[in-house]
Amino acid sequence: MSCFEPANSMSPREPGVIPIELRNGGRVRANDVAPQGVYRPSYNILTPNMRSPEYVQMSTAAALTLGIMTGRMYRCECTRCLNLLLTYPEGCRANCAYCGLARHREAERDYADRNFIRVDWPAVPLDTTIDIVARQGGNSPFHRMCISMITHPRSDEDTVTVLRKWTARIDPRSIPVSILSNPTTMSRDDVKRLRELGADIFTVALDAATPEIFDRTRGKGVQSPHSWRKYWEILMDAREIFGPQKFGAHVIVGMGETEHDVLALVQRLVDLGGHSHLFCFFPEKGSLMDHLPATDRGQWRRVQLARYLIDYEGVRVEQMKFDGEGRVAGFGVSDQVLEGIVASGTAFRTSGCPGKFAEDVSACDRPYGDSPPSNIASFPFQPNRRDLQKIRRQLKS
Ligand code: SF4
Repeated sequence: MSCFEPANSMSPREPGVIPIELRNGGRVRANDVAPQGVYRPSYNILTPNMRSPEYVQMSTAAALTLGIMTGRMYRCECTRCLNLLLTYPEGCRANCAYCGLARHREAERDYADRNFIRVDWPAVPLDTTIDIVARQGGNSPFHRMCISMITHPRSDEDTVTVLRKWTARIDPRSIPVSILSNPTTMSRDDVKRLRELGADIFTVALDAATPEIFDRTRGKGVQSPHSWRKYWEILMDAREIFGPQKFGAHVIVGMGETEHDVLALVQRLVDLGGHSHLFCFFPEKGSLMDHLPATDRGQWRRVQLARYLIDYEGVRVEQMKFDGEGRVAGFGVSDQVLEGIVASGTAFRTSGCPGKFAEDVSACDRPYGDSPPSNIASFPFQPNRRDLQKIRRQLKS
């Protein structure tokens, strides 16, 4: 079996000191260039002064699907989830070690020019975005919309505005809305308000599988404001307010936790009535962890498969076997059952909030958000026969 990277070898770099004039989006605010339509990240060439709720950022895949950018995605026609990320010249005020949007990058790159989960995120006027989707009506390729918050004092209010503007034009029963929350700035009342305004699913990006890794990668360890306790407080509020199957947590696999650590968390979420959405750690360029190795594919495939069994097949983590280093050594089902699940391929697709195809197929397919196309971690489409051959080899590695 291959080795996972132990906790002590997955330490982030120290964040550097940022010159005062570059803090809080200083350069963008000083230049104060008026935005005009869609802005494609062009890397510090007079970035316009764009802020939510007038502007939102979206993945390159979403911009291609909307038709506001041209190009093609490897083996993908479109994405089924329209992720709308709040944006401000001051950017995200947190400093998460694995994230390309983190505050420590202020010295190097304006916020709207930073890469995020491996791809550029163009900034687009919200009204333009809503106009296009409203015009598409029942023919929209999107199965879901997701408002993704960042850590900013305006984030809670602006999420409400984006949600109100969206639901005024687009029926949330035809394209349901998810919230990717930022618990650090939120109260229980904020969670309630989003539910009352028609949000369907509420997720919390725990990202780290254990409190220690959380603290090291997105808390005090990197001068970042987040706390494990506050994230769980809002997650439990969401559980009560949104109800069973309507809340969940994001978890990044491969930041120094064992396979058992992450699967115990997956089980805990299922026992609470929620879901887990997994991401494979990728050393995002410019982040404080860009010198570290991407998650071993054997580790990733085992966790994907075990998580699928726990989330959708009623298998419990206690039925699984683990070796002395916490690696899955038995999945708790017969070889025949396991082979059927592997052969269906669904377990290896991107995990996230469901779309219209099936409960266990995510609308949020995030093409190449956690790996290059040459070595796919989360499949944004149904893996074919050759993909499955590779997956089987990886499971045994
Ligand atoms: S809060 Fe989210 S967007 Fe901000 S640095 Fe952390 S992971 Fe990145």
